[in-house]
This record gives sequence, structure tokens and C-alpha cells, in this order.
Amino acid sequence: MTEPLLKVRNLKKHFPMESPIPFKKSTQSVKAVDGVSFDVFPGETLGIVGESGCGKSTMARLVNQLITPTEGVVEFKGKNLVGMKAEELRNSRKSVQMVFQDPFASLDPRKTVGQLIVEPLEIHKIGDKQSRKQRMIELLEVVGLSSYHADRYAHEFSGGQRQRINIARALALNPDVVICDEPVSALDVSVQAQVINLLKQLQRDFDLTYIFISHDLNVVRYMCDRIAVMYLGKIVEMGTYQEIYEKPKHPYTKALLSAIPKESPHDKKERVILNGSVPSPINPPSGCHFHKRCPVAMEMCKTKVPELIDVENGHLASCHFIDKQ
Ligand code: SF4
Repeated sequence: MTEPLLKVRNLKKHFPMESPIPFKKSTQSVKAVDGVSFDVFPGETLGIVGESGCGKSTMARLVNQLITPTEGVVEFKGKNLVGMKAEELRNSRKSVQMVFQDPFASLDPRKTVGQLIVEPLEIHKIGDKQSRKQRMIELLEVVGLSSYHADRYAHEFSGGQRQRINIARALALNPDVVICDEPVSALDVSVQAQVINLLKQLQRDFDLTYIFISHDLNVVRYMCDRIAVMYLGKIVEMGTYQEIYEKPKHPYTKALLSAIPKESPHDKKERVILNGSVPSPINPPSGCHFHKRCPVAMEMCKTKVPELIDVENGHLASCHFIDKQ
């Protein structure tokens, strides 16, 4: 059996709250990510979906160690990145790169596109001036831009082109894993498809493994092999894209899927309306965190926490009543 490239175990990030009383430490914290475990296999795309505030972007940053976890393990090629010494971590980070949501905010407006793409090579002291320039031109072409774009600044490009520049930067160090955090949600719909197709093409050409974070289930369906659904800092369901889209088990996943616009007027799919919004991760509801919004909640859901269990051949879900739905 293929070994996972990335193993995440019991990953937690609890941000301490500021106390309203001066000089007194608060005992409360924001449980942004609260005990998440999953594997990522070479060459696959693992999608992470959920409403905003569910912790998916925090998780992306934890996996890449841009923020330090409160607890847990992030193992890349057998080595735990959590607690790794700075120099070793810097080396491992070459292999795990990120593409962020806002293509403009993540590009320094004072640098030319050429300087931006060469920057990761300079930081990691890879090659000399000539070879870095050569690599930069190659990368521009790989993402569908041209060598003459190298002397321009980020503000001279469209949103889609800026995201291509970000992708070129992420590829500069020949990574194994690219974490894409809502990479197309800031783009026009017409441009989204072009960037998604580019990411798929690059995956084939460079054997990339993706963690693809999105709130858009249509995009995730097109892009991902397996999908994890997050709610209030936890994974509530995980399976292949067929399992998630054709046989969803968790009431939250069913509600998310029911919100996708119908493909035909004859589609009899009923929309499941969830009550209210995602509760605060400072003080999540007792028992099943979803019980206040769940359309099929029972009394025991208020007190008993459901475990994430294997319901069918590796299809995982956390709900007390999966068999009864
Ligand atoms: Fe709904 Fe209860 Fe299942 Fe939670 S455990 S998803 S509240 S039925």
C-alpha cells in the first residue's frame, strides 16, 4: 500500500483570548482547529470544505507551519514538522508551498514579477543569478505568462494573471505538496475555470500533491480525489469525491450539497436550510457541535460527542444516527 506523503494527527490550534480584566489571564480560547487527523497520498488532491469560520484556512497554515499548533503532529515524508529546528524546517518548507486566496495581497507591489519569482530561490540560495533568471522565465511560461512580463509590477496584471504569478512563485522550489487556500474564490467565474485547469495541468506535469481548500463544492468536485468536510474546527465527514457527492452520510454534508444550484429544472433535489450561522468556536455547543443547526438532531446529540468512525470502506463520518437517516 502507498505510504502517505503527509500525515496529520490530532492537530489543534487554540488561540488564547485576551482577558477583559487587566493583568488577569483569560481561561478562554478560540478553538479554530480542534483535533484533526488525515493522510495525504502522493499525487492526489485532498479537498477541505466547510463554511467560513470552520477552521480550514487555519489548518492550511498549521500544515505548512506558518503558525505553530497547540498540539498534534504534521509528518512530512516521515519527519514531524512540529517543533522542528528553524533551519531544518526551512528546508522542509521548500517541499510544502502555499497559494493564497488574495492574489494581490500576497504579492509585494514594490517588486517586479521577475524579482517576486526569483525571491524564493534567493532565500534558499539556489543557483546563481543567471540560472535563477532562466528558471524564472521557465516558470512564467509554465503558468501561461511570457518572459516580457518579468519587468512589470503586480498592479499591471488582472486577478487571474496575478494568481498565475503566485502559482509560479509556489513552484519555484520544486515542491511535492502545494496547499491551495481558496485559490480561485477572489476571481471572476470565467477566470476561475482557467486557473483550475492550469492547476490540474501542473499536477500532471510535475507530479504535484494538492491540499485544496474551498467553500465552493462545485470547484472541489472538479478538482479533488478525496474530500474532508469541516465544521467548527473538526472533520465531520471524509471520503472519496464519489462517496461525498453520491452517498453523503453526515447531515451537514447533505445540507452543503443541497445548496449547490440544480443542474436541471427536473432535478428533484430538496434544499436543506440550516438554522442560524456557525456557532462561536470560543464556546462551541455541547455534545455534537452541530446539534443546534442539525435538522435531524435528537436529545442525546446535546450531550454525547459523536466519534469520527469508518462507516463504509474508509468513508468516515461523525454522527450518532448515520444508519437511521
Ligand atoms: Fe445531527 Fe445528532 Fe448526527 Fe450531530 S450527532 S449530526 S446533531 S443527528
